[in-house]
Amino acid sequence: MYLVIGAGLAGLNAALTLQDAGMPVTVIDGSDRAGGRVATDVIDGFVLDRGFQLINLNYPEIKRLAVADELDFRIAPRTVGISSGTQRIAIGDPRQAPLSVFSKKTGALTEKASFIRYLATKPSPDEDVETHLLRCGTGGLYKSVLRPFLQGVFLTEPSQVSAIIGRELIGSFISGKSGIPADGVGVFSQTLANRILDLRLNTQVEEIRGNRVITNQGEFVATKIVLATDLTTAAQLLGANQVAPLIRATTWYHVVENAPENKAELILDAENRGPVVNSIVISKLSERYAPAGQNLISSTTIAHASESEVRRHLALMWGSSTENWRLLAKYEINSALPLFEPGKVLPKSSKFNEMIYLAGDYRSGPSQNGALASGRLAAKELLFDQGL
Ligand SMILES: Cc1cc2nc3c(=O)[nH]c(=O)nc-3n(C[C@H](O)[C@H](O)[C@H](O)COP(=O)(O)OP(=O)(O)OC[C@H]3O[C@@H](n4cnc5c(N)ncnc54)[C@H](O)[C@@H]3O)c2cc1C
Repeated sequence: MYLVIGAGLAGLNAALTLQDAGMPVTVIDGSDRAGGRVATDVIDGFVLDRGFQLINLNYPEIKRLAVADELDFRIAPRTVGISSGTQRIAIGDPRQAPLSVFSKKTGALTEKASFIRYLATKPSPDEDVETHLLRCGTGGLYKSVLRPFLQGVFLTEPSQVSAIIGRELIGSFISGKSGIPADGVGVFSQTLANRILDLRLNTQVEEIRGNRVITNQGEFVATKIVLATDLTTAAQLLGANQVAPLIRATTWYHVVENAPENKAELILDAENRGPVVNSIVISKLSERYAPAGQNLISSTTIAHASESEVRRHLALMWGSSTENWRLLAKYEINSALPLFEPGKVLPKSSKFNEMIYLAGDYRSGPSQNGALASGRLAAKELLFDQGL
């Protein structure tokens, strides 16, 4: 039996690849649900994703899985709202915000043209995202739009992230159809998990000894193992060094009767006036995120911040008082994303030893696509080594 440890996106795709090749596969996960970091809670009728994230249906791996038709999917607007002083300016797809390109508050026209050119350039391996974008001439556009947007994508400063990884993710956002399943991102993972024939939850791996995997539910004897946990757990189980730093992020959920905005546009702060990197009335994207008559606002911070600092910044960003906003929940995610620093070389092989193949976003890229790709590649390599 082939054993996949971890039912996050990487493990699910590894298992599906093995299963599709006709292999007997068992997937085990320590948690009470599949999906890993792509999971959702329901509290008092509110749908709370464990950290704000959008699913991108144009990611190659998601297209490959042909899952879109099974989801009641809500596509996010292709514009973002840039908060500057007391104004908010929509910028993005010119078909949805035709005048945005002319607003000087979001950068000069030449800088916007430079961004289009950036999309066709190749970064150098040691460059970071910020250097690459500025080198391409995006100056003011970078400062007021791209930097705040990318902070929310990488959950860190773009100057910390490899330009190669950045170029790939930015390209997928521009061409992408991003959004959420109507009942939360967890539905996406669950839809994939439903395809797995043998999935065992609440099964925590404590140790791996050769082909024997010791868990809180007893021992599994495996033909081969795909280890698809988060980076820290993989390093612990293998007695190896952690290969990448991890980034933390916090998502704050506020409830309010009267939404500050009628659209589901992601709001960014052009002036960097506080700890919030983005905020959205998520119940305008899917009304099922909040009970009737209520609105749910999801906001993300990447540096340590108190609720009063967050509330003060949100009032500036939304241009509306936040006094009546009720804090419903706060998700602090300590290992939100692996950091792909400039110069990082992606591993060529998934094979750790004769028994174990590795998968996880820390191997291929800090995204759903990266996680899914790592799982498929690990399973493919395993099958190849078996002559299959
Ligand atoms: C707040 C936030 C926002 C994000 N936003 C986006 C976005 O907008 N777009 C995007 O593309 N990506 C986004 N991502 C990234 C994306 O969600 C992750 O890259 C991806 O889900 C990682 O999947 P994974 O399978 O590699 O790891 P994980 O999801 O961490 O899965 C690992 C699994 O292993 C299990 N496990 C761990 N230890 C054990 C053990 N000892 N025994 C058994 N099981 C174990 C865990 O329970 C878990 O299910 C975001 C992530 C976060 C946290």
